Amino acid sequence: MLISITEKCRMGCSHCIDDARPDSDKFMTLETFKKALAFNLKYDPSITITGGEPTEHPQFWEFMDIVAETLTFNKACSVVTNGMNLSDDDIPKVEALKEKCRGLIMWQVSSIRPYYPIRIDLDQKIFQRKDFTIARKIEKLECFGRATQHPEWIFQAKAPGCFNIRSLMRGTMSFSSAMLSLRSMNKFCTPQIAYDGSIKLGESTLCPRASHIDKRISVIELDLINFTCACPECHKLLDKLTPMYRAAIGEN
Ligand code: SF4
Ligand code: SF4
Repeated sequence: MLISITEKCRMGCSHCIDDARPDSDKFMTLETFKKALAFNLKYDPSITITGGEPTEHPQFWEFMDIVAETLTFNKACSVVTNGMNLSDDDIPKVEALKEKCRGLIMWQVSSIRPYYPIRIDLDQKIFQRKDFTIARKIEKLECFGRATQHPEWIFQAKAPGCFNIRSLMRGTMSFSSAMLSLRSMNKFCTPQIAYDGSIKLGESTLCPRASHIDKRISVIELDLINFTCACPECHKLLDKLTPMYRAAIGEN
């Protein structure tokens, strides 16, 4: 499960499926973050902190301290970042956090030329650490946000990013079972808890809200089972699916 703590990002990539912007004022509150963390850990032992760019949240390090207090031996956290706000000066903070998390934290840095317009110095020591992985290529580009405006981007997705969670919800009728199945398939990117506590079924912040973590789980389950989406870009993908696959997510 992803927790998107902000929709702000100064990097300004033309391939941004989130349409994250430098002037965004969308930040998760501390109260929502605590609730999002509890919800995440109830259904999924792996936490992914993302954005926008998570380190642009003014309380990022405070939030990470709360994550550290919450992690136990069978849980783990990843932070997905563009690395812009990290430098060797942050090594003591990163080291202290790793200690508090008992090593159960990983950093995933995406800085791929020519996609990311502001270059970071990947030769810095912080990016050589064993708890940092550097993404060297873009695995899959979905047809969202600014990515749809770029003439050169080719979208590799064969189905909307929400396909797995939606078909599992309709098949199992249970959020716990759907999350268990996603983990067994090594699918960790959905659902996403957005900055305001709403639940989205696709990875992009542009995916519409399907439910909210403040609701009872039985209501969330019904919301997710009955969710349909009018996204025109995803409908181009849906149109390529067989009727059986469309029916599996309740789209005709
Ligand atoms: S792709 Fe990532 S780094 Fe680039 S603008 Fe979007 S959120 Fe920021
Ligand atoms: S826009 Fe709608 S159909 Fe597309 S991935 Fe997001 S939730 Fe799914």
